[in-house]
Amino acid sequence: MNPEERIKELTALLERYNYEYYVLDNPSVDDQEYDRLMNELIMLENQYPMLKSPHSPSSRVGGQVISSFEKITHKRMMLSLANAFNEDDLRAFDRRIKETLKIDNVEYMCEMKIDGLAMSLVYQNGEFRYAATRGDGNVGEDVSNNVMTIKSIPSKIDILDEIEVRGEVFMPKKTLQKLNEEREKMGATLLANARNAAAGSIRQLDSSIAASRKLDAFWYYFVNASEEGFNKHSDSLDKLKELGFKVNPERRICKNIEEVLAYIEEYTLKRPTLAYDIDGIVIKVNDLNTYSKLGYTAKTPKWAIAYKFPPEEVVTKLKDIIFTVGRTGKITPNADLEPARVQGSLISRATLHNEEFVSSKDIRVGDMVVIRKAGDVIPEVVKSVIERRKGQEQPFKMATNCPVCGSVLVKIDANHYCVNPYCDAKHIEGLIHFCSKNAMDIEGLGDKIIEQFFNQGFIRSIPDIYRLENHKEKIIVTDGFGETSVNKMLQAIQKSKENSLERLLFGLGIREVGEKTAKILASCFENIDKLMETSIEDLEAIRDIGEISSRSIYEFFKNEHNIKMIEELKSFGINMKYLGRAKTTKPNFFSGKTVVLTGTLTTMTRKKASDLLESYGAKVTSSVSKATDTVIYGIEAGSKLDKANALNIRTIDEAEFVNILKSIEEEN
Ligand code: NAD
Repeated sequence: MNPEERIKELTALLERYNYEYYVLDNPSVDDQEYDRLMNELIMLENQYPMLKSPHSPSSRVGGQVISSFEKITHKRMMLSLANAFNEDDLRAFDRRIKETLKIDNVEYMCEMKIDGLAMSLVYQNGEFRYAATRGDGNVGEDVSNNVMTIKSIPSKIDILDEIEVRGEVFMPKKTLQKLNEEREKMGATLLANARNAAAGSIRQLDSSIAASRKLDAFWYYFVNASEEGFNKHSDSLDKLKELGFKVNPERRICKNIEEVLAYIEEYTLKRPTLAYDIDGIVIKVNDLNTYSKLGYTAKTPKWAIAYKFPPEEVVTKLKDIIFTVGRTGKITPNADLEPARVQGSLISRATLHNEEFVSSKDIRVGDMVVIRKAGDVIPEVVKSVIERRKGQEQPFKMATNCPVCGSVLVKIDANHYCVNPYCDAKHIEGLIHFCSKNAMDIEGLGDKIIEQFFNQGFIRSIPDIYRLENHKEKIIVTDGFGETSVNKMLQAIQKSKENSLERLLFGLGIREVGEKTAKILASCFENIDKLMETSIEDLEAIRDIGEISSRSIYEFFKNEHNIKMIEELKSFGINMKYLGRAKTTKPNFFSGKTVVLTGTLTTMTRKKASDLLESYGAKVTSSVSKATDTVIYGIEAGSKLDKANALNIRTIDEAEFVNILKSIEEEN
């Protein structure tokens, strides 16, 4: 592949992984894989600078800002950290600093790299004002309500100047383990790691959920340290501690790079004994006065680096290989392992992907195998320890028949499939997918319960979910249920009828239609009828929808069984429209305008205002620039309003805004 194509491919992959990791809190690949691809991209971009896009994932800080929370523009960018994976990387970092500062030795501060979610706290007049996530580094989300459920964070401090403190919100290992045990019982998907668990908790709109998650936080950066007269990062951390912030006690000043390397070695061993997960060690230059000279890249400060631990590997016995059937009929061999503890969690299952994976590694039942929790996420089998074979180990044989219905399997590319359309396992997986969080999000209908209802005959197809009410009396008397829990489940089913079209499209499990494609389809067609009538050519004409997906979508909606199912769903009152965009197509005051909201609105929340504006075709952005058309301001509006006036941008107060909204509504 030529470099240009490879850069494009890597960019697309990394963008997708970023979205899954930062927005969905649900990564599909491990961090090592992500870091490997990112390094390859950086290398290629360095080699061919002409091919580097200014929006490359290599120069963007993490996430995106989701719209459910108010946006907050950080006073100073919240950056990421450059990575080091070995001693050479660390020595090179040390060398660069010495060269830039023209000195012989550098003093460092070593800290735990807590595997959590970066957070910024702002205090004014000695009082807590708000907490914001990092977001895209420039604009984050106001998550004050959730963060203030963390009891160790002071609400008052003994400094009157406005200050900002940054740190990491995390979920202690024990809490994560307990939460996952509960989720397993409920049949809910397990939280992949401490970081995703913390991020998911902080993103809850209901702060009582965040409170129940028992999060904690360590604070590692006093942003205003220099202005407050500090010369050393270590002293500024001591000050934070004195002010009542929880500062990690494992931190240590290292006099030179040799001491840094020794510290890393020490904590590589101590890591399993800590009460929280760390994924590395952060090394920062201790002299604050050098920071401006050392400078920043678009994404990271040059005065700090994160050393990342290699994944932990453990040897255990492969007791058996079990085949499971996925929603598409794909058969996956899974390792049934003697339970082993890897990075704090007990692993007894790991995917073996497909026949080729097992055969190429010659993994045999009875083997001792090396397993690792790849990037702290998905457990995987790395290899067999051939030296420990005793002779009785069984070479792998791929299943020839479906483990559930017995049909003969068909091989398509690298995978085997059960092609029996009536196979129970496929139906169960399809139903689980339909109810899952990112699809119709029906709480209470988890994996185990669906399987149970399927076997009891209550739910045999998607429409049956909406007929579950008919079995209410029987379910109430079933073990493990009660009236309250059944009512809650029925309410969740009822609520799912209001979902926007993309959730339904994703939930239907159309081959090749993931979340992103579902969203594209929903926003292009706006209702399911238009989508069902469309031609393959029209589908192919849509950007980002390829030939294979087009055919699969087209065929899905021409299938009689599927047409009947959609009719049935309609008859239950399930919404089949896209709710995410313009309610009106009539041109209006806001169509096509770029609008900024500032200050506090009294008649509605900022989120509501922003949703309304978007529904009338406006683009709502967070900062005022020449591209802004209109600034809507509430009370206590500050610098954004000043800037709008300075740039001669039209400004509208709340009363006028409400009037315009009324007239648009009347027009429609
Ligand atoms: P990072 O996790 O590599 O490091 C920066 C972050 O470390 C800071 O923002 C801060 O939140 C945190 N941190 C913890 N302790 C700290 C301390 N003592 N001092 C300073 N910072 C500290 O960078 P990132 O931008 O948050 O995430 C990028 C990484 O996330 C990637 O390298 C990759 O490993 C992972 N990632 C994985 C996927 C995936 O799909 N698996 C996708 C995106 C990112």
